[in-house]
Amino acid sequence: MTCDPFTDQAPLIAPLGRRHTVGVVVGNVTTGGGAPIVVQSMTNTDTADVDGTVAQVAALARAGSEIVRITVDRDESAAAVPKIRERLDRLGLDTPLVGDFHYIGHKLLTDHPACAEALAKYRINPGNVGFKEKRDKQFGAIIETALKHGKPVRIGVNWGSLDQVLLTQLMDQNADNGSPLSAEEVMREAIVQSALHSAAEAQRLGMGKDKIILSAKVSAVQDLIAVYAELARRTDHALHLGLTEAGMGTKGIVASSAALGVLLQQGIGDTIRISLTPEPGGDRTREVQVAQELLQVMGFRTFVPIVAACPGCGRTTSTTFQELASKIQGQLREAMPVWRDKYPGVAELKVAVMGCIVNGPGESKHADIGISLPGTGESPAAPVFIDGQKAVTLRGDNIAEEFEGLVQRYVEKRFGNVADAAE
Ligand code: SF4
Repeated sequence: MTCDPFTDQAPLIAPLGRRHTVGVVVGNVTTGGGAPIVVQSMTNTDTADVDGTVAQVAALARAGSEIVRITVDRDESAAAVPKIRERLDRLGLDTPLVGDFHYIGHKLLTDHPACAEALAKYRINPGNVGFKEKRDKQFGAIIETALKHGKPVRIGVNWGSLDQVLLTQLMDQNADNGSPLSAEEVMREAIVQSALHSAAEAQRLGMGKDKIILSAKVSAVQDLIAVYAELARRTDHALHLGLTEAGMGTKGIVASSAALGVLLQQGIGDTIRISLTPEPGGDRTREVQVAQELLQVMGFRTFVPIVAACPGCGRTTSTTFQELASKIQGQLREAMPVWRDKYPGVAELKVAVMGCIVNGPGESKHADIGISLPGTGESPAAPVFIDGQKAVTLRGDNIAEEFEGLVQRYVEKRFGNVADAAE
């Protein structure tokens, strides 16, 4: 790490730049090895319910999830997996499916070869793979199946199901240490060692490093950062990031973004998942949207055009600008599945919807297209700026609709030509 010449200290946050990892191909998606950071999600349907699972995977995939994990917990689920794969393929959705196995994964994969083949990756939790003498045997059986079908695995440690034998061993060693570590530090070390030991065992059994992804999930932000920083220091395996049990609503979003943001900024992380607990009846695809927005606001990837909007204040005369900002952002997101192909590069579009003259014109000039709505005491006129220049002033009751039309025409003119030229 480079030191700051003025303070002679290492910067607190390392400069941007992805850490080198070994790339792993999961279905049609490359993770690690310098590939773009991948957005992953997980279903919460009963996998044995083929219709329900297909519908949710399709929704997650259409929202932008590039890999979807499904639970494979019993025979009925394993039997459903090839049917789910087939139905998704018929819908034209080739999103790779990852099977999440606990306790009996070795048996399910052996008894259901069509499931083993339909999945693009197997997730193994070293803490739940089996106990005592059965552990190594059952872990080996999953690796053997993965090798037979040419599938990669994710060795996914979770502190809620940490290998207790390893933890007890490290606790005992620590007690004998002259200057013992705290229980929390030992727990972090056990998580890291569990992932590394299992990866080494998989490699000993013949699996290449390019077939192994590691994750080590905990639910506290500082613990997660410490664990992944240590993991990244000790291995060049591709890493999947996620704060487990992040929680509901804003708490889950803030905690996940804080933890993953720090790690991504340090170049750590090849795939991410935001583990949000949906509200009852809530939309599962929200975790995909949050993951995309996190990567986009940090400048790692672009998925949808961004709408910059002011928060509003006492100068705001109405809710018009809030409604317009929300409507425009929603329309842009909805249009993206079609626009992505029709208007190459449109994800880079920047739109501004501002509430008054104080910051409105300035922010709008920074956007590709922006509108400054009239605030308190201003004349009822809304200047629109295109490519930094004032283009038109909108008046009357149809400002919102007219601005939407201007955005559409701007997209057609600027990005439609790129598509035409490419044909
Ligand atoms: S741009 Fe105007 S309305 Fe929006 S927050 Fe600033 S002062 Fe308030």
